[in-house]
Amino acid sequence: METTEEKGKSCSDGECTEESCEGCEHSNQSLHSKQDLYEDLNQYSSIKNVIGVVSGKGGVGKSFVTAMLAVLLNRKGAKVGILDADITGPSIPKMFGINRKAMASELGIIPEVTEKDIKVMSVNLLLDEEDAPVIWRGPILANMVKQFWTEVVWEDLDYLFIDMPPGTGDVPLTVFQSIPLDGIIIVTSPQDLVSMIVKKAYHMAKMMKIPILGLVENMSYVKCPDCGKEINIFGESKLNDIANEIGIDILGRIPIDPVVTQLVDKGEFERFSCDYLMDAAEKISELFAEQEESDRSFEQ
Ligand code: ADP
Repeated sequence: METTEEKGKSCSDGECTEESCEGCEHSNQSLHSKQDLYEDLNQYSSIKNVIGVVSGKGGVGKSFVTAMLAVLLNRKGAKVGILDADITGPSIPKMFGINRKAMASELGIIPEVTEKDIKVMSVNLLLDEEDAPVIWRGPILANMVKQFWTEVVWEDLDYLFIDMPPGTGDVPLTVFQSIPLDGIIIVTSPQDLVSMIVKKAYHMAKMMKIPILGLVENMSYVKCPDCGKEINIFGESKLNDIANEIGIDILGRIPIDPVVTQLVDKGEFERFSCDYLMDAAEKISELFAEQEESDRSFEQ
């Protein structure tokens, strides 16, 4: 039988692949070094699934999609939290009408909760003035996000959604490296789809070896309030082409919906009744239930 030592020798010949060196000293080296960078979750927290919501740039509705999925999974009975990692453009607390400040205890920072019991942590819950600009350099922004992971007492959650900093720069990269994400969702607008932006977000996740759960196209169309016709204001959607090209699922398409905008403005986002992401929420809960099931049978 081939020994680990022998396998190790063949690896140093430069022929090492993750499959070929299974069981040898180099096995899963990249995985180990990746895990070494992870920050420890707050000791009073236990989170089953961590999902990052990313976009190539700001303003495409990343927070909107994060909040909508969080509400839909909460409605399905899951325990849900939202970590607002978009430090320079935090919008989650406002959407849920939270303007109280987060409190600290000897256990850590206590997140705020929405009317329906979704836990929320955001820089806006720490600032004296909600509209004060956050003029911090990259490393400080990234450290704040890490602290939301290490010092916030999330307690038991089925899902933690992370509203990621937009783009593919320094801050999102640090978040990718410090928090063990179980999957990411890429949010785009129809205009993004014709550019390189989506592919950049896609390649970043691939390079970090994080599973991509799928693509959500936001602001895809508007519905005529009189006849119900869908109007593609940005022209024909390229969503199917791009999803096929890079080989990822489409989780949903959301129109520009003035009714939801009004709810956002009133801080009553949780009351929306539209079902644009219902299938996406269903897919996510099925996927993670299957994973839990296979982890359980693997352990037995
Ligand atoms: P991002 O997180 O990508 O910067 P946001 O989610 O904050 O973007 O969205 C930017 C603005 O557009 C917000 O005011 C949000 O309420 C609004 N918005 C986003 N998506 C929609 C939509 N589908 N219909 C109506 N308003 C939307």
